Amino acid sequence: MATLLIKNARNIIAMDAGRNEYPGGSLFADGQEIKAIGKDIPYEDADTVIDAAGKIVYPGLINTHHHLYQTFTRNIPWAQDVELFDWLLTLYDIWRHMRPEDVYLSALVGLGELLKTGCTTASDHFYCFPNAVSGELIDEEIRAAAELGIRFYPTRGSMNLGRSAGGLPPDEVTQPMDVILKDTQRVVETYHDASKFSMLRVGVAPCSPFSVSEDLLRESAVLARSYGVRLHTHLAETKDEENFCLARKGLRPLEYMEKTGWTGPDVWYAHGIHFNRDEIRRMGSCGCGVAHCPSSNMKLSSGVFPLVEMLQAGVNVGLGVDGSASNDASNLLGEVRQAYLLHKLNVGHLGPTAEESLWLGTVGSSRVLGWEDAIGSLEVGKAADLFMIDAGRLDYAGALFDDKALPVVAGISQNVDMTVVGGRVVVKDGQLTNIDERRVAAWAQAAATRMVEVAARHSGVDYYKRRQR
Ligand SMILES: [Zn+2]
Repeated sequence: MATLLIKNARNIIAMDAGRNEYPGGSLFADGQEIKAIGKDIPYEDADTVIDAAGKIVYPGLINTHHHLYQTFTRNIPWAQDVELFDWLLTLYDIWRHMRPEDVYLSALVGLGELLKTGCTTASDHFYCFPNAVSGELIDEEIRAAAELGIRFYPTRGSMNLGRSAGGLPPDEVTQPMDVILKDTQRVVETYHDASKFSMLRVGVAPCSPFSVSEDLLRESAVLARSYGVRLHTHLAETKDEENFCLARKGLRPLEYMEKTGWTGPDVWYAHGIHFNRDEIRRMGSCGCGVAHCPSSNMKLSSGVFPLVEMLQAGVNVGLGVDGSASNDASNLLGEVRQAYLLHKLNVGHLGPTAEESLWLGTVGSSRVLGWEDAIGSLEVGKAADLFMIDAGRLDYAGALFDDKALPVVAGISQNVDMTVVGGRVVVKDGQLTNIDERRVAAWAQAAATRMVEVAARHSGVDYYKRRQR
């Protein structure tokens, strides 16, 4: 297997249990696996040798929630300045015109930006399967991930509770339950690789309480557990969702999950904002995880995630960028900084330090995905998944007093300098190594424009206009 040596770094931030740092350190990987880390390790004859003088090395970030296809509906004037339900109602009408090529290209863009901002493992929640488009859409994003070289964790999402049945989405973006379950089974059987250094794991992810039926929730959980794969859904994101659950089921969102088999250490929710104290305690004892998505929660005015209470209750918390249309980016390092700032504003000194915020986006996220044996920190026996920044950049001058905190406190105004996934360099000098970025960008923008303009012709809405307030 190919070997990699990264030598003489200004510092390596391991993010291991001892929170070790290795000033002047090196890291050696054989294939995907780190075999040695520290000073003066004797592996000069590695296949690839990277001189990391002046660079700081961090464990690769792990994204626990995303909707990559939404990359094509960012910065749509008509979808700005509204909250979740109105925002979704606007965008469903655009997404229903999505084609397989759009899924592929939007994934290249979103995953590409994640890699360029230090993310090495990305989960995705793909739940929008328009009626008019047959085909295996989720396969398209899997193809994009393989091309880029990112470690990927797609979840086969679903919606079967359309407007005619009292749900939020239009019927045209929902599928019948038997179709959903059959395709979910296909995706798991075709792609899921449970091995330690897998480049592709798959989860099962009905979209949300207001877009799927109770039967689909139950059956999805049974299916996922029969294959030993993880379960993911949106929960407690907004008060509107809570009111929907109370009105239709007479239950609060977490009670509804408890009733349908959707709690346990193999379940992670996106958002988890509107829990009461007793529910937070129950979240801790059931072993569920949460993907905290601060930018999306701020943009859609959803609320502030109770981070301190969740961590005190023993809940596994990781970070996610959420769908690109509510972020409107795929910058996970930016999300680490958002979490740091949001909780400083909300709870002052009780909020996470910069290092703790980085921990949420690495070790915390690895626990949410149940993958802490292989990713999240830089240690012997774990994957060589890392990013590197050049401490000599102008934007860090005057800030080199705490390497652990640097990209969080000082922020990041450029891409990382290098990203390595499983011992392979996938970003070099801030550029993706496996695709022609400018060509993909032009192709993707043309495809996004097509989708939005077709949608405008069908719906009669001018998406380039801003709503009256
Ligand atoms: Zn989401």
